[in-house]
Amino acid sequence: MSDIIRRDPRAEWIARNRLHPLHAAMQPAQHSWMGPNGVIRKNPHGMGFIGPNGIKRIDRSGEQQGGATKRTAAVEVQLPLHQVPAPAFYICVVPDMVGGRLSSHDRDLLGLAHQLAGSDGAVLAVVFGEHKETTFGTAGVDRLLVLDGEEFSGYAPEQRVQGLRAVDNQFSPRHWLLPDSRSGGGELGRRFAAALGQRPATRVWQVKDQACIGRAGAGLQDLARPLARLILAAVECAEPVSETRHEALPVELSTTVARSLSRIEDLGAVAVDPAAIPMAEAEFIFSGGNGVKDWQLFHQTAAALGATEGASRVAVDDGFMARDRQVGASGTWVTARVYVAVGISGAIQHLQGIGACDKVVAINLDPGCDMIKRADLSVIGESAEILQALIEAVEAYRNDAKRDAA
Ligand SMILES: Cc1cc2nc3c(=O)[nH]c(=O)nc-3n(C[C@H](O)[C@H](O)[C@H](O)COP(=O)(O)OP(=O)(O)OC[C@H]3O[C@@H](n4cnc5c(N)ncnc54)[C@H](O)[C@@H]3O)c2cc1C
Repeated sequence: MSDIIRRDPRAEWIARNRLHPLHAAMQPAQHSWMGPNGVIRKNPHGMGFIGPNGIKRIDRSGEQQGGATKRTAAVEVQLPLHQVPAPAFYICVVPDMVGGRLSSHDRDLLGLAHQLAGSDGAVLAVVFGEHKETTFGTAGVDRLLVLDGEEFSGYAPEQRVQGLRAVDNQFSPRHWLLPDSRSGGGELGRRFAAALGQRPATRVWQVKDQACIGRAGAGLQDLARPLARLILAAVECAEPVSETRHEALPVELSTTVARSLSRIEDLGAVAVDPAAIPMAEAEFIFSGGNGVKDWQLFHQTAAALGATEGASRVAVDDGFMARDRQVGASGTWVTARVYVAVGISGAIQHLQGIGACDKVVAINLDPGCDMIKRADLSVIGESAEILQALIEAVEAYRNDAKRDAA
């Protein structure tokens, strides 16, 4: 049999769409689940498959039932390679790279860049400082320019504007895209626009029919204006690239960037109390639900990790957490890079609130719950035991780091 993996996009869409009448039929048969009293139940009739001669077979390797092997194959699916050997023009994207990695906002921007690039243009990402990103290709970067000189590190908007001006002179991009964010892009974009003497389109959430539509009037109105060269785009301005992979070929500046006479002195990062960070802006959220049995331990773990605390509605209704900590449809919609859900089942109202989170870690007793399905990493077990182990691991890590530094 051929190794080529055949996909049925309609079936995949139905499997994701809980409201579709055929949704249940598209789910893999569940052979074991946790009963209401916590005991794991198994359905022996659900196992196996009917062989070609009509006899039921049980394959204990799990291969035939869509087990491990099938999943591995799905992971290895190679997306078609999109190449632009001789770009007719460039669309430049300057991602925020919070924590050295592409954020979901950055990925939305790369999606928008591909809309503007079409098949002839190339998307050029300009990245400042050292990064840890390994997925530029699948995020849609055709050319990658890393400006990692020490002068660009930290808070150096003036020097970065000089770098962008050098890129502008060399590549003359048709459009510049920056995230209109508080993580750097919003300020850098406005400074760069002033340096170029151009009016940027700001808070843009849609680019369509040669027009940019942005939020205005305290976010209450839409403002449409002709497609600008410099676009500062909002979150979800476009779908991220998901159907192609790109070369991310490294390119370099042919000139050295002039050093700007900095009028800003970077005094370094200031430690803040994670509890004081508004939920909507928190990068690392440690959230507790009905499965948290020891709230003292929960707060202790959040403090050890330096995370901002969040909660499910049940935890709030039961009085364990303040109302402003509720995550979800009727609470706060969060955009954390890491969201840890402790004892949260993953009700649709909660999942809506964490839709924009990059990485979700679930700690839960029930391996079949919806939060585990959503999670990128799951730990199955009793929350108190896992939190205790987590505190010990963090302390051991900190002690090792201190010993190495001494
Ligand atoms: C109109 C409306 C709006 C809503 N808005 C929101 C909202 O904004 N946010 C929100 O969160 N909910 C909201 N809800 C409620 C939502 O439907 C769920 O009821 C709620 O999210 C469930 O919270 P939970 O996951 O903490 O509790 P449960 O559903 O009770 O889940 C507890 C989880 O903990 C696990 N568990 C139990 N014991 C342990 C243990 N010892 N160790 C580890 N895991 C354990 C269980 O397996 C289970 O998965 C809304 C509901 C409605 C109707």
